[in-house]
Amino acid sequence: MIPDTYSKHLQQLLVRLGEAFPGDESGSMHSSLHISNDELESVLEQLNGRLSQHYPFHQPWYAGQMLKPPHPAAWLAYTLAMTINPNNHAFDGGPESSMMEKEVINQLKAFAGFPENALGHLTSSGTIANLEALWIAREIHPDRAVAVSSQSHYTHHRMCRLLQIPVVEVPGDENGLPDPALLDHSQPLPGTIVVTLGTTGLGRVEPLHRITDWARDHQVRIHVDAAYGGFYHLLRDTGTIDADPWRALPDADSLVIDPHKHGLQPYGCGSVLFRDPSVGRFYQHDSPYTYFSSEDLHLGEISLECSRAGASAVALWMTLQLLPLKPGHGLGEVLQCCRKAALHLYDRLQQSERFHPVMEPELDIVTYVPVTEKTTFSGVSSRSAAILKAGMEAGLPDRLYLSTLALTEEEAHRWLPDLEADQSSVTVLRSVLMKPEHLDFVPEMMRRLEKLYEMTG
Ligand SMILES: *Cc1c(COP(=O)(O)O)cnc(C)c1O
Repeated sequence: MIPDTYSKHLQQLLVRLGEAFPGDESGSMHSSLHISNDELESVLEQLNGRLSQHYPFHQPWYAGQMLKPPHPAAWLAYTLAMTINPNNHAFDGGPESSMMEKEVINQLKAFAGFPENALGHLTSSGTIANLEALWIAREIHPDRAVAVSSQSHYTHHRMCRLLQIPVVEVPGDENGLPDPALLDHSQPLPGTIVVTLGTTGLGRVEPLHRITDWARDHQVRIHVDAAYGGFYHLLRDTGTIDADPWRALPDADSLVIDPHKHGLQPYGCGSVLFRDPSVGRFYQHDSPYTYFSSEDLHLGEISLECSRAGASAVALWMTLQLLPLKPGHGLGEVLQCCRKAALHLYDRLQQSERFHPVMEPELDIVTYVPVTEKTTFSGVSSRSAAILKAGMEAGLPDRLYLSTLALTEEEAHRWLPDLEADQSSVTVLRSVLMKPEHLDFVPEMMRRLEKLYEMTG
């Protein structure tokens, strides 16, 4: 999983980092912390056994949920940094790691087309980042609802409940995409609309460009949830994705992108940006015991969370040094492979006699159904579930990890009009092709899919 060169670098760097803190040469720990080698080995043995029970997220035949290991460079930087364990709550807690956080946030701002003075920081997840944006939204429009689409992430409802803000759903147009002009105008207008660029289920990119004018005319804030899809902004001008929604990104009031989804980072790395830095006034802060080293705004003064892993910032900084936010190389090249893999699989599914794609993928999530004798929701659902199970249980040469997704009757009617609705939803197969290795794996994935189809027939 980790190439040898990275492990060797880690060993050497651990020694050199130790040398940077003189007076600690013996490396000995207090007797209360001492553990015998036998004990250590015995628990490590157990640990290894338990960790090896996970699904092979790093392999291309894991094509299920949004899961993959971080880049080894991020792993290396994170591991090294967490031996020091800096805390990015304040400069005192992590002087260099806080600077690195500011540097990566500046890179994200430039990448998203946000102004230089925009406010932003890393968070421990996309959910916390969204919570923060919704909280600011509520402070600005205390009496107005938050509008979400039917495809938006389920945690928006949860966080609005926590914040005690009402939620309204933006009706969808004939393609199932949110159209705020269809909101019931006898009701008060929402204060904020959440637009998702890269929905978690189907990977759809909501039409931000068609919503911005409406929002400006009605003084509605726009929060863009691009936790999963955000880095696809890199491909905006490559002709492989629809550029229009992404071109509108600089018009968002707040934006969430998860480096721990498509940014090759270990978990614990989300981010939130606010175009207007004056929202900083909502973070009242008068902690009596931190901050002595700097007059600058501390990250903890513009963040809902207090302690945060400085190692997350260090890992992202390292990754973006090596794989920069560029369309043609670095992270852009990685995403281009994922995008091509999705289009390639879609082509193959269209040609297949055993599967049909549900819709053309907009990013790298591909959904598809097995062709069944009984053309009903229940017939397709049970075959999809059987293929999912057979894939996980197959011998190694045929093993394939997929995921499933339930489509509502309305969605199924739109994309799978030939299916008879004998129950309320239909389960389809879903694959997130979020590793560049998926590109070369598509023909083999198709072979395995067809084999699983035969095995479940
Ligand atoms: C994953 C995701 C979230 C939640 O992010 P976490 O980092 O898992 O908390 C929110 N919105 C969208 C669109 C997502 O895909």
